[in-house]
Amino acid sequence: MDPRESKLAMERNQAWWETLKGARSTAIARSSGRSSTVKLYAMTCGWLSADVSSMLARESGRIRFPVPAYLIQHPKGHVLFDTGLHPASGHDPHGRVGVLANFFDIHFRPGEDIASRLNQLEIDPKKIAYVVNSHLHFDHSGGNELIPNAKVIIQQKEWEAGHTPELMEANAYNLQDYDHGHLVHQVHGEHDVFGDGSVVTIPTFGHTPGHQSLLVRLEAGDIVLAADACYFRRTLEELHLPKLVHDRSQMLDSLLLLRRMRARGARIFYGHDPDFWKEVPQAPMEVL
Ligand SMILES: [Zn+2]
Repeated sequence: MDPRESKLAMERNQAWWETLKGARSTAIARSSGRSSTVKLYAMTCGWLSADVSSMLARESGRIRFPVPAYLIQHPKGHVLFDTGLHPASGHDPHGRVGVLANFFDIHFRPGEDIASRLNQLEIDPKKIAYVVNSHLHFDHSGGNELIPNAKVIIQQKEWEAGHTPELMEANAYNLQDYDHGHLVHQVHGEHDVFGDGSVVTIPTFGHTPGHQSLLVRLEAGDIVLAADACYFRRTLEELHLPKLVHDRSQMLDSLLLLRRMRARGARIFYGHDPDFWKEVPQAPMEVL
């Protein structure tokens, strides 16, 4: 490697660690940010099946797993964390997700999309203030189109990757999922959505260039919505990475950050764990 490149890489690594440390220290410092007025709801927006090896390297067989999305009710506005699949992926998977339909079976029926889930809660999708996208994969941003008036909050690295041809190809991004004219707030690392510590983005790069998780502070304690930074409980217990990862070293760092947050009492909500998902109350029940 060219010495200048090597120096640049070191600086990037340093910046990454500073971001991680910042996320950790701020998360600790905000223990007074708990609020009984913040409510969290879990919703299942369809299911996918895939080879287990794609999610836990070297394992065999198929696995059926949920596509979660979350609603956070805050006095200053409603937030969605991810928006699940686009409705067309249920009835026209090849047309909508292209070659990915060769790897995933999509089990997605009418009434399971994010707009329908909100309607079932008597919430108008047009009144959602923010969509926090963990990343731009089809099962996390496919429903953005159904939430027309929200401001999208996403890591700048992820948004830029979603508009860089080689990274779009490498990460299987599809502009159809996220190119809908939303206002986009591109953030760097940690971002406190309401300025009170109750809903904070946590950079967890590695799965994709700018993946982020979301810290939600409830009266009962902290919850980290990990999304694809950690597919399963086993991913965290065993540091067992998927076969395909954008950056293995960053993903391991992100898992170690999640472990540290868990050690300080946060509950980690895994991204696609079907066994864990059985323990999570579904809307209209609140996550307590
Ligand atoms: Zn993903």
